[in-house]
Amino acid sequence: MSPIIIIFVRENHGDNVPKNKIHMSAENPFFHVVHERFTTAEAIEEAKRCLQCKKPTCVTGCPISNDIPDFIHQLSMGNMGTAMSILNQKSNLPAICGRVCPHERQCQGHCILEKKGNPIQIGKLECFVADFDSDMQLTRERLPQKTRGKIAVIGSGPAGLTVAGDLARAGFNVTIFEAQPEAGGVLMFGIPEYRLPKSIVRKEIAKIEALGVNFRLNTVVGPGGLTVDRLFADGFDAIFIGTGTAVPQDMNDTPGAHLRGVSQGTYLLHCVSSYTSGAIGRRLVPVKKGERVAVIGGGNVAMDTARTAIRLGGDVTVVYRRRQEDMPAIESEYREAVDEGVKFMWQSTAIEFVGDEKNRLTALHLNTPKGETTVAFDRVFLAIGSKPADRIVSTTSGIEVDEKGYVKINERPYGMTTRKGVFAGGDVVHRPQTVVLAMKAAKDVAEGIAQYVDAIKLLEDCGKDGNPSSAEIAK
Ligand code: SF4
Repeated sequence: MSPIIIIFVRENHGDNVPKNKIHMSAENPFFHVVHERFTTAEAIEEAKRCLQCKKPTCVTGCPISNDIPDFIHQLSMGNMGTAMSILNQKSNLPAICGRVCPHERQCQGHCILEKKGNPIQIGKLECFVADFDSDMQLTRERLPQKTRGKIAVIGSGPAGLTVAGDLARAGFNVTIFEAQPEAGGVLMFGIPEYRLPKSIVRKEIAKIEALGVNFRLNTVVGPGGLTVDRLFADGFDAIFIGTGTAVPQDMNDTPGAHLRGVSQGTYLLHCVSSYTSGAIGRRLVPVKKGERVAVIGGGNVAMDTARTAIRLGGDVTVVYRRRQEDMPAIESEYREAVDEGVKFMWQSTAIEFVGDEKNRLTALHLNTPKGETTVAFDRVFLAIGSKPADRIVSTTSGIEVDEKGYVKINERPYGMTTRKGVFAGGDVVHRPQTVVLAMKAAKDVAEGIAQYVDAIKLLEDCGKDGNPSSAEIAK
């Protein structure tokens, strides 16, 4: 029987910001989320529209196969705790997925009601349930004893948090090692506040911590810090690398790429993240009011950079080498960027960064469909992709990577690298992708880690003289 939950209605109307409008008059526009959240009444009303399809196409569109009709059904009856438990069966980060997943391509895009142009707003319902659960502290999970083994997770982005959450729930003792002073990786430092508020990320991380996961912040694994061998010597049975793609691609082969005023989009996003959390002042954040800003690229980082620069008061143009329909960015991100005033130059390639005698950028020389042209810009941000850092691979023997630095993994046990006991998942293996796809890959790796550690524990427990320990197996 479903638990009866009394709903204390504390309506949250977001920040009262109209959809797709930036309040530049506000003291700090970064705190204003773009989308309003559902009120309780709105969420229940929306949930009641669900047809509870026998063959729910929404589930086939969800990369982690969330049990969408079931959680929506529970929500429609006001059973928020049960709805949350259903979401938790597949996701450790529903409040985050509900906000940053490309729902239009996934669950919502596959909803049967999409044909009538009015799909169930599954992402907003997911957010509502997760936020309600956090605010009311509904979920009290019964956790197993942590007796199955000791796991080190390097990196606390979506992949690391997913592996840690799944393994902690399965009875493993998990420690996350994070180089930054705060956990969250790209969720905390890469995705802008207006799209994913830091307070939401912190609440989701607190839930992972409540599963018994330990966090060691400001702890580097790599040159000058801990090593994989040290972690094995300290008694970890398996190690997961979920460090993502931390090194942005440059355009150093293009003349003028080293001019002042040319920098990475991720640098701007990191600066603004530090500014919104109060760590640095506005003076240290690039882009001043009225500056002409170009963003080179067509993915989600390019959209985040452009929309952030416009919030800083810039006059922003995205320069993309292909057509609009070829952009890898989420469609809604593009549309919202247009609504906010971002301009676009299609099929245009930068062939030179033009500077003045003080080595300061003044313009971009471009190849466009109408021929070569020079456009004045004060700043250019690059958002043309990223690749993995090599700090762990370079300090660990036996981990093979491909020609671009992505870690090679095995199918059995799934996710294990060429070094025994060392696993990898998320963007560091599969190239940059969405948060939910990194989570999906990480869930499969968590299963591989559990199978591996169970197997080596069985070997150790056989009690036969000469059976190797986890650390010896991993050598
Ligand atoms: Fe509900 Fe749409 Fe899924 Fe059908 S496809 S169960 S209407 S969300």
